[in-house]
Amino acid sequence: MSRSECLSGRDDPRHLFACADCRADARIGAAWKSMPSPEAAEVPEPVVERFVESVLASVRRDRVRTSRTRFWLAAAAAALFSFFAGLAH
Ligand SMILES: [Zn+2]
Repeated sequence: MSRSECLSGRDDPRHLFACADCRADARIGAAWKSMPSPEAAEVPEPVVERFVESVLASVRRDRVRTSRTRFWLAAAAAALFSFFAGLAH
């Protein structure tokens, strides 16, 4: 389609079916309109206090569990070491 035909038929909605350039322009315009405005995107989500509390409690529980496991592993290693040290004598 020539440029003059395109410019003359732009007001006609049927023109979009015939002209690939105008169809692309219409799609870009529709996509641009559907995008949220930058001001709306910058508003931070409110922090859910209960979620943060539950995550912190879970981290604390995991630390206690890890330190208990380390204690028992160290005790077992010490017992094993003393057993082999006793065998050497
Ligand atoms: Zn056109």
